[in-house]
Amino acid sequence: MLIDVTKIKSSAQTVDEVDLQEKVDAAAYDYAELNLTAPLTFHGTIENVPPYFHLKGELAASLELVCSRCLAPYNLDFVLDIEEAYTNKPEAIIEEDDEIGLFEGDDIDITPALLKALFMELPMHPLCRPDCRGICPDCGADLNRRECACNKDNIDLRLEKLKGLFDKMNSDKEV
Ligand SMILES: [Zn+2]
Ligand SMILES: [Zn+2]
Repeated sequence: MLIDVTKIKSSAQTVDEVDLQEKVDAAAYDYAELNLTAPLTFHGTIENVPPYFHLKGELAASLELVCSRCLAPYNLDFVLDIEEAYTNKPEAIIEEDDEIGLFEGDDIDITPALLKALFMELPMHPLCRPDCRGICPDCGADLNRRECACNKDNIDLRLEKLKGLFDKMNSDKEV
């Protein structure tokens, strides 16, 4: 997603509106884990404050995630505030400051910064819904879809065993 800064680079106007919508191949930017299901949209401004270009705005994206409990894929929408700084003057980058992006020519590619921001927002334990019941560890049934017999049986078996013990204790007492 390129921003053409020709206008704000060399005229009295120093701020420009940014209005981008683009289908992005995240894997091509080394973010293969971002499974984008819709074009990225970015609305904001870019301002020339020499020697920097300040980008400010809002990113909207849709991602397909995989639920960490039931392993079902689901869609999640993101809206993120973005603030970035760019420069075309290498000397303006403070040593070891990788927060400022360097660009050449008239276009700034803001895609890497947007994908990085999205990546940072990925949930550690994605859940298709807050109360996802997950998969039964015994039979593999998706407990959101159907009840399996495992848990119930286990409880019944334990109760049966306890009952047997009690019966035995009682009969022992009676003797
Ligand atoms: Zn789930
Ligand atoms: Zn089960």
